Amino acid sequence: MANKKKNDFDILVVGGGPAGLSFAAMMAPVGCRIGIIEKQPLDKIANPADDGREVAITHRSRALMQQHGMLKHIPENEMHILRAAQVINHGTPEPLEFSPGGSGKGNIGFVVANHYIRRAAYNAAAVFDNLTLMTGETVTGLDLEATAATVTLEGGKTLSAPLVVAADNRFSTLRDKAGVKTRKLDFKRLCIVVKIAHSKPHDDIASECFLEGLTLALIPLGDRAASAVLTLPPEDGKKILALSREELAEKIYEWTDGRIGQVRVTGDMHSYPLVAVYAEDFAQERFALLGDAAVGMHPVSAHGFNFGLYGAEVLSQTLRRAMLSGLDIGKMSVLEEFAITHRRQTRPMYEGINSIVQLYTDDRAGAKILRKGILAAGRALKPVQRLIVGNLTRDKAAE
Ligand SMILES: Cc1cc2nc3c(=O)[nH]c(=O)nc-3n(C[C@H](O)[C@H](O)[C@H](O)COP(=O)(O)OP(=O)(O)OC[C@H]3O[C@@H](n4cnc5c(N)ncnc54)[C@H](O)[C@@H]3O)c2cc1C
Repeated sequence: MANKKKNDFDILVVGGGPAGLSFAAMMAPVGCRIGIIEKQPLDKIANPADDGREVAITHRSRALMQQHGMLKHIPENEMHILRAAQVINHGTPEPLEFSPGGSGKGNIGFVVANHYIRRAAYNAAAVFDNLTLMTGETVTGLDLEATAATVTLEGGKTLSAPLVVAADNRFSTLRDKAGVKTRKLDFKRLCIVVKIAHSKPHDDIASECFLEGLTLALIPLGDRAASAVLTLPPEDGKKILALSREELAEKIYEWTDGRIGQVRVTGDMHSYPLVAVYAEDFAQERFALLGDAAVGMHPVSAHGFNFGLYGAEVLSQTLRRAMLSGLDIGKMSVLEEFAITHRRQTRPMYEGINSIVQLYTDDRAGAKILRKGILAAGRALKPVQRLIVGNLTRDKAAE
């Protein structure tokens, strides 16, 4: 491999989140020297706290997690079945359905808490001796040179490798340092997640309900339990965050018109700003982007983590092939294949979801009439519906 002697590592990964760690776990069996730099302390990575996120994963992601040693670290009873999903527009009788249909699958996907995913990715990566995890270290500088990439840590130390992979979240500083432009979409909404228990069964069906001024998604978690995901303007969000559990339960009961029965709030509220980001380039000489740093999806798409895993799979396969052929893995001629494939597998969903979300969160009268008509006819959303179900139920990358 090029530069093997001169460099500290063969690959440097910045960010020990689900994307960075699962990429490292996929790449490590090749035997190359991988360094992961993560700003949080080891304990937060090895035993992450519950952050309220319940992540819907696709059949392909579950298969990848099994193949790369992650799935065995997730307790079986914490992997919930997602049989189908419905989009409900308040006042429109017919919901838009996402069911496995002709896919041959009994369910469209699975749901697992983000902290279990993070822990599983850590455990899958931690078994490799050729992988060095440097925690409590923040990358503050990046130099992309002709023969190597060098990162600078906060304390001034530098580390080099033929390739730096940035998986440092949707507000990636490395992406900016590399000069990669992004398309950003600020939905000007706050996302609040909270666990609830309810008295009527959900039949493992998720729902996304568009109400006046807010959306409420219910993600099924085992028997009569769900994660409630609210998206609303930030100033309204602040009022919700100030409610007691009892007050919030009452609100959710009202918003669901009693559909799920009596509601009890069983967890703390967590909030996230809603900004979608798409990098204009996923790779350049000596540099590649993964996870939310490459594609930061709106959570309603249930695809951010899934796309992170798909990107990790494509990048690791591309690099393996290059290594076997004795190529320099940091060259754009190698990374191009990853960039093109990952764009192809993410761009249609990114654009499709953003246009649906914009339509459904627009409270102007024209938009209300338009979405009633669209939901009733169903036709305009069919391609997006097919795209989403196809993405959820497929076991492997699309041909
Ligand atoms: C409410 C909510 C619900 C969601 N639901 C779903 C879902 O249903 N399905 C789905 O697929 N996805 C979902 N997602 C998205 C999913 O959670 C993310 O896509 C995923 O966690 C991103 O992983 P990542 O590794 O790219 O980034 P992160 O998890 O953000 O990890 C980045 C890591 O990089 C580290 N870091 C950052 N900067 C530096 C630096 N300079 N130096 C060193 N380390 C650094 C950070 O400490 C962090 O550990 C949801 C997200 C939210 C907010």
